[in-house]
Formats: sequence, structure tokens, C-alpha cells
Amino acid sequence: MSKQYDVVVIGSGPAGYVAAIRCAQLGFKTACIEKWLNKENKTIYGGTCLNVGCIPSKALLDSSHKYVEAQGHLDVHGIKVGKVSMDVPAMIGRKDKIVGQLTQGIKGLFAANKVDGIGGTGKVSATDKVTVTAHDGTEEVLTAKNIIIAAGSVPIDIPPALVNGETIVDSTGALEFQEVPKRLGVIGAGVIGLELGSVWSRLGSKVTVLEALDDFLPAVDKQISKEAMKILSKQGLDIKMGARVSGSTLSKGAKKTVEVNYTDQDGEQKETFDKLIVAVGRRPFTDNLIDPAIGIELDERGFIKVNESCGTNIPNIYAVGDLVRGPMLAHKGMEEGVMVAERIADKKTQVNYDLVPSVIYTHPEIAWIGKNEEELKAEGVDYNVGVFPFVASGRALAANDSDGMVKLLADAKTDRILGCHVIGASAADLVQQIVIAMEFSASAEDIGLTMFAHPALSEAIHEAALAANGHAIHIGNRKRRK
Ligand code: FAD
Ligand code: NAD
Repeated sequence: MSKQYDVVVIGSGPAGYVAAIRCAQLGFKTACIEKWLNKENKTIYGGTCLNVGCIPSKALLDSSHKYVEAQGHLDVHGIKVGKVSMDVPAMIGRKDKIVGQLTQGIKGLFAANKVDGIGGTGKVSATDKVTVTAHDGTEEVLTAKNIIIAAGSVPIDIPPALVNGETIVDSTGALEFQEVPKRLGVIGAGVIGLELGSVWSRLGSKVTVLEALDDFLPAVDKQISKEAMKILSKQGLDIKMGARVSGSTLSKGAKKTVEVNYTDQDGEQKETFDKLIVAVGRRPFTDNLIDPAIGIELDERGFIKVNESCGTNIPNIYAVGDLVRGPMLAHKGMEEGVMVAERIADKKTQVNYDLVPSVIYTHPEIAWIGKNEEELKAEGVDYNVGVFPFVASGRALAANDSDGMVKLLADAKTDRILGCHVIGASAADLVQQIVIAMEFSASAEDIGLTMFAHPALSEAIHEAALAANGHAIHIGNRKRRK
């Protein structure tokens, strides 16, 4: 007889492992199936985020940031260092160690919560069945009262620059370089392009980013994206907008390079790189995942169609994370995982899709929540703006890290906060304060009346909120309304 479960989860990325743990906490007999193998051919949990995404990219961002600091930003503090050099394999090794620690941690959490972690490839084979094909080819059928599909996403390929894992790589390959490429091309000035482009640029690569659109970071508030372009260009990223890649040719000799052809406003161009990263977005991974006879609906872009509560069109089958609509972000997937587990337990939990924070982990970081100025204008909303530059923050100056600003937008009539946009050190943590405020429908005045520790970067949030009402203390108020 097949093993019986209350819940079977397919995929152990942030959406899947969180769903599985929460289901188990709620008393459901739960299994989580994962096909990923580590270098020792052992099942490894954590998905894209832990293995080749959020965590390893941040480890390399932090290492490369420290390198830049040691190289040229300590003098100002009076700290003299000798010649600074980078041991790339050691940096990659540290990253792998962190990944190992965290993925082992998921295994521990499964054990502690009594989730059955099962290695193999899962397929929804009936409305209440998941067939698991183990790595040795043997099959096992699990019976499930509820199925949660959390198979995630994979990088998008583009025909003019097909990934070969050597000279042309995707984000996963770009986390594994064993030496600093002299000339690095990046296709796509999105989140991955800017984060991984920054890593290798800091370590000495001459980085050229080719972006098809004319508009830089179109989802970001214009004032902030303009500032980001200025700062990142100054750091050495050569970001070419409106650059459409038409082809690439690998070199034939022993020295492996790739010549990329593209067109921009000046016509046809070509450039040779030692490595090329393709970072043009990700697609939902639904290959061979569901028996078509079950009739689970996908949308026109291949995402599994779900309702507000992540239910598919088949009762008791849910889908969460990157393979359903909404931003492809780990925290969005985790919250969906919790929501579905609690819905299965008959709770009324919801995800607030209006308040999903976004962060780009360049230095300075770029983070935002809610509406930006362009969106408010398009919607005809009357709003106040408060801006506070970090150059006026004592804490930022003390840290010698004063690039950027906080921008807060509030409704002109009700003063309710509508959005917050930060470019600056620790922007992710700063914006989170406004995410909480917005969850509680706070006004700019509420933030203005809140006491902030001094000196702290978060005082910039306080001042931006005061500025939105025309009475910032530590900066001139351009628009005094009260
Ligand atoms: P995934 O993490 O993709 O996990 C899906 C899992 O399902 C995988 O382990 C896969 O092996 C498994 N699977 C698939 N099919 C099957 C099957 N049939 N049977 C068994 N197992 C299966 N997001 C952020 O929020 N912050 C960041 O800083 C961030 N940085 C990123 C950096 C990079 C370089 C990349 C690539 C992504 C980054 N992301 C970041 C995005 C984030 O990684 C994803 O949004 C997140 O991992 C999605 O979670 P998920 O659980 O939906 O899918
Ligand atoms: P993205 O959507 O952020 O950026 C892709 C960029 O490539 C876009 O600017 C797009 O216009 C451009 N592009 C597309 N086709 C192109 C072409 N043929 N030539 C040139 N440019 C082209 O996607 P990504 O950077 O690959 O990241 C994938 C996903 O991973 C994102 O959805 C993101 O949410 C997630 N992610 C998040 C973080 C984070 O939260 N810090 C970090 C990395 C990745």
C-alpha cells in the first residue's frame, strides 16, 4: 500500500520547506520531495534561494564589499593596510560553507518538525497522488489529502547567447568563477545582473551590462533609479541601455572568449568578453511536473494559475512561490507557504500582496515598498513627498557611507503612507520599518511622532516622514505645506 500523507509538498525551496514545516507544526503528516543533489550526490534542501540564489549571492556581495573597503576606503579612517589581494577560491569556499550550513539546517528543521524529507523527482500523477522517482530510477507512489506544488523557477535562455556553462553562464555559473574574469559581459540590467555584475566588478573585472530596455530599473521610483545609475556607473559598471543582443560567437583557440554582437542607438556593435553572464529573468519550472490528465491550469506565461489563497483549479492542490503569479522573491514564497498550510488547517490567513518589499543588494542597497511617484501620478493620487539624503545623517557620515536618500510618499489628504523608496546602506532593513508601518496603515505623522534612536541610519526615515509634512528638522523643507 502506498504511504499516506495529509500533505505532500513538491520542492524544498523557501516556499516549499516553509509550507512543509508549517503543515507539520499544525499537526499534519507531511512529506517534502526534493530532486536537488549536492556535489556528493546527496539530497540537499533549500532550493534556488539557499543553494544558488539569495544566500550565495549575498555571501559574494559581502566578501567583495569587504575587499573594496580594504582596498580603498579604510585610509579615511586612518587605517593603513598593505597590498590587498583576493583569493577567489577561498571566497567561493566560504560561500559554499555558508550554503552547506544553511541547507543542513533545513534538514535539521525537517527532523525537528517530523517532516519526511524524500529525495527524488515528484510528479502529481492524480488529484491525490504524487509519484516519486528516486535517483536510482525506482518509483514510489504517495497518497496525499493535499498537495502543495513548490517547484520554483529556472533561468530563461536566449537563443543569441546560449549558456554553455563555461564561457557563457547563468547566475549559477557566475557564483562559481574560480578567477576574476578580466572582461565580463552581463546580459540584463535586472536584479541579478546588477548584483553579480557588482561582485565581479569590485574584484577587478571590467564589467559591461547590456540591457535591452531604454528604461533603467523600470519598477523603481525614477528619482531612485537615476541615483542608482549614477552611483553604479561611478563604481565602474558600464551599463548600456537599449542594447539588443543579436548573437554571440565562442573563440576557437585555447583562450576561451566570447564575442557578443548587439545593436544600440549607434547601430551594430561587438564586444569580446572572457565570461558572459545571461541574466534576463527566470521562468516557472513546470516541466514534467503534473500529469496533463489532471487538468491543472497554467496561464499564458506558463505559471500555475492560482487564486488569492494559492489554490489551483483542482480542490486540495495548491501552488506557491516562483511558479505562481507575483514577484519571484523568497519572502513572497515563504508567506504563501505559511498561508496555504494554515488554509489547509481551516484558518483564514491571507498574504498582503500590496506589501511585498523589494531589495537590490548592490552597495548602496536599493529597497522599496508600496507605490512610487510615477505610479501615484498615473493613478491621479494627490501626494506629499519627503526626501532625506544620507549626506545629512550623522550616522552615515560617521560610517563614511553617505550615498543615497530616503524618499517617503504620503497621501496629501489622509497623510497615510503610500510608499517608501531607499537607496543607501542598509536600505533593506530601513524600508522594513515602513513595511511594518504600512501594515498598520500608519501616517507620515505617526512616523514623525515616533522617537528614533540617535545616531542611527533610521533617523533618515524619521526625517523623510517629517519632510513629507513640511517640518523636517535636519534638512531644508522645499515644500512647506503646514
Ligand atoms: P525554488 O527556490 O526554486 O525551489 C524549488 C525547488 O523545487 C528546487 O529545490 C527544485 O530542485 C525543486 N523541484 C523542482 N521540481 C521538482 C520535482 N519535480 N520534484 C522534486 N523537487 C523539485 N529572492 C529574494 O527574495 N532575495 C534575494 O536576495 C534573492 N537573490 C537571488 C539571487 C539569485 C542569483 C537568484 C537566482 C535568485 C534570487 N532570489 C532572491 C529569488 C529566490 O531565490 C526565489 O524567489 C526563491 O528561491 C523561490 O522559491 P521557491 O521555493 O518558489 O522555488
Ligand atoms: P530581472 O527580471 O530582474 O531582470 C532581467 C533584465 O533583463 C530586465 O531588465 C530585462 O529587460 C532584461 N532583458 C530581458 N531580455 C533581454 C535581452 N534579450 N537582452 C538584454 N536584456 C534583456 O531578472 P533577473 O535579474 O534574471 O532575476 C530573476 C528573478 O530573480 C527576478 O524576478 C528577481 O525577483 C529574482 N532575484 C531577486 C533578487 C533580490 O531580491 N535581491 C536577487 C536576484 C534575483
